[in-house]
Amino acid sequence: MENQVAVLVELQRAETTLKGILGRKNKIPAQLAELEEERKKQEGFRDEAKALVASLLAKQKEKEQALVKAGDELRKTKSKQFEVKTNKEFEAVLKELEGIEKKIGSLEEGIILLFDEMEKAKSDLQASEVRYEERLKEYEEAKRVILAKSSECDGQMTELSVIQGDLKKSLTAENLKKYEAIKGLHGGVAVAAVVKGICQGCFVNIPPQMNNELIKAKEIRFCPRCNRIIFYQAPKQAEAQ
Ligand SMILES: [Zn+2]
Repeated sequence: MENQVAVLVELQRAETTLKGILGRKNKIPAQLAELEEERKKQEGFRDEAKALVASLLAKQKEKEQALVKAGDELRKTKSKQFEVKTNKEFEAVLKELEGIEKKIGSLEEGIILLFDEMEKAKSDLQASEVRYEERLKEYEEAKRVILAKSSECDGQMTELSVIQGDLKKSLTAENLKKYEAIKGLHGGVAVAAVVKGICQGCFVNIPPQMNNELIKAKEIRFCPRCNRIIFYQAPKQAEAQ
């Protein structure tokens, strides 16, 4: 039978690492959602600029059509000048012409104003498209990094699960049961190192005699206070972790 203490230490190490990786992996969906939200926001800015150009184009078209219509109206009204019989009718036609010309003037003015607005909106749209393309590249790169991290987590988790399974098989049924029970009581940590005579699970001083026995690592010992399985760890080894 393998050294049960060593197996327990390794099992705890594997499970703690697994938990850490799972924690990192669980954060990934939120990170992706945040990225996606930012991308949509940038897309929204671009779409707003696009919508403004479209609405200005529609207004421009509307005014141009009105101008064509007014031009027709003007021609028709002008031809009426030659058909009128009385002065009064002639004056009425003149008044009508004046009104149409005024309308044409204001439509032309509106078209010129729209033209300036359109120039600005088009250049804004172009800038926002360039910006969006840049943001999109950043988004794709960030997403690629996150997804790579995610599959790296998957790979490590698979590997550790195999190690975990093998270690469990190396334990006696009784020791595995003890391990699981203590783990359940202590938030997933059943095994604690003793460094310089102090339990790293609850920071109690371990009696010197017990500490000496731990160094030999022959039998499973429990912390007198937190009841975790304890093992001796040299201070230098503890620092390296
Ligand atoms: Zn303890």
